[in-house]
Amino acid sequence: MGGDQPRTLIFVGAHPDDETFGLGGTLAQYAMQGVKVVYACATRGDVGSADPEHLEGFSSSGDMRWAELTCAAQELKLSDLIYLGYRDSGMPGSPDNTHPDALAAAPLEEVTAKVVKVLREVKPQVVITFDPIGGYRHPDHIAIHNATVRAFHAAGDPAQFPECGPAYQPQKLYYSVFPRRWLKMAVRWMPLFGRDPRRFGRNHDVDLTQLVEPEFPVHAAIRANRAAAEMRQRAVACHRSQLASGPPANGLLGLIMRFSRFNDTYMRAYPPVPANARVSESDLFEGVN
Ligand SMILES: [Zn+2]
Repeated sequence: MGGDQPRTLIFVGAHPDDETFGLGGTLAQYAMQGVKVVYACATRGDVGSADPEHLEGFSSSGDMRWAELTCAAQELKLSDLIYLGYRDSGMPGSPDNTHPDALAAAPLEEVTAKVVKVLREVKPQVVITFDPIGGYRHPDHIAIHNATVRAFHAAGDPAQFPECGPAYQPQKLYYSVFPRRWLKMAVRWMPLFGRDPRRFGRNHDVDLTQLVEPEFPVHAAIRANRAAAEMRQRAVACHRSQLASGPPANGLLGLIMRFSRFNDTYMRAYPPVPANARVSESDLFEGVN
């Protein structure tokens, strides 16, 4: 390790629970190794549907979701949680998406500036965000992906966003991707279990058949050890309001996630991987100096 910068990893995501369901094993594993792991979360999850029993004791859905996130962050041993100040959006077409504070409607430059500021303050060597389709085409995931990619390349340039602190260039950028082969299997099998792959998820608004393509290359896989997997499981339990009905806890996808939860997969966006080159990293800090 060159310099005196402690090893630092940041995940830039959209909602309370993105840190756990997609890549909780990875975050826990690095935290256990002594890496400073930070989650920058764009929204507080104000919009998502919640059962009244979970809202008890909270003044809003956002307060409840942030409390769940705080619990999960403790289980994953994250060093810090940062809120970027937006309101979450629904799936495409939802009226929430036009709210003045909606992340999905916010100007790219504005969101980028917030992420640049965080990158310059936290100084991570490694940055993780969603893939270009936001995992399952959620508008918030896509918005934060776009802002994070732009911010990653701008943070090291003192001429860009000078109001956001001194320039700092992170070294690696990854997209969290899920292996399509599991998904292809799910899409094929769900009808056999009486489930419609076009109406998936808690709000039945996720069309799994649209997610089978495109296929993103996998350049890194982080295999969580038993302790990290258990930390992730405890973090999952923190997100009680998101587990009440449907996936990801139950059913066929739950089974698939149980198979894949020990193995989080990533596409390396930076440094770029030459076309057709085979890269299979087992450590996101590989090559970091
Ligand atoms: Zn999300």
